[in-house]
Amino acid sequence: MSLEASSPPVPSYDTWPVIAHVETDRYCDYCGYNLNTQVVRRDPDLQLLLVRCPECGRLHPAGELLTSRYIWFRRWALSIAIVWIIILLGLLILLTIMQGALCRMPLEVLSGWDKIMTATGEKWVRQPQLDAELKVQVYFWGGLGSVTLGGLMGLLAVVCCYHLRRSRYYLFFFVWALLIGGVIVGVWRSEEPQLLIWGLPHILRQSLIYLIGAVAAIIWGRAFARWMLTIILPPKIRQVMSFLWLVDGLPPPAIPAAGEKEATSLSSPA
Ligand SMILES: [Zn+2]
Repeated sequence: MSLEASSPPVPSYDTWPVIAHVETDRYCDYCGYNLNTQVVRRDPDLQLLLVRCPECGRLHPAGELLTSRYIWFRRWALSIAIVWIIILLGLLILLTIMQGALCRMPLEVLSGWDKIMTATGEKWVRQPQLDAELKVQVYFWGGLGSVTLGGLMGLLAVVCCYHLRRSRYYLFFFVWALLIGGVIVGVWRSEEPQLLIWGLPHILRQSLIYLIGAVAAIIWGRAFARWMLTIILPPKIRQVMSFLWLVDGLPPPAIPAAGEKEATSLSSPA
């Protein structure tokens, strides 16, 4: 806001009729600020639709120019989007397989093969092992793994599919956790039917912990992502990610100008 005073003043701008609001990401050509949600006004003399950047105060045409370079840029953006979707689907499959393996892990580790005598002779059967220390390790590492996987997938969902309503994320992860657990139950039942009842609580525990990780990410994931972006991205590049602020009704990240701290403390009413 500090630059507003020093930029070329357009005193009549605020009195021009409001035509619309900017509804997509559009960046100030001068300072890089994201103009999404800003009002679009019509200049009564020139009949041009203009947007004013609240950071630097400069005016921009509301529409974008359709040049051949722009069209090629759109094609290029489309192929990037396709690659991005393939990467996301790959991650979804990979993280899902890992959660399946974690549902299966306690069954493998906490059971062992014992030789028993039957009427027809010796036979190897799988039986639960009663090693308390091993149990603690399985609970700890299994829990840590599943809560991390659920959290990672939840974070991906709320950041990459940010347009969905919150209830959709909950529904998706409930069904997904149930599906993964269900597949492992099915496989285990076909392999070791006599250990099905013994194995169920282990699979259920892993699924629940996975769900807890996902729910935590649905609640706090975007706030966490914003915090991370604020740390790792410089302000100008951060504008590209401003949808993460706008989707939660927060003002997009500001671009601090030189000496802004003094300017804001002087100009802010509160
Ligand atoms: Zn600007």
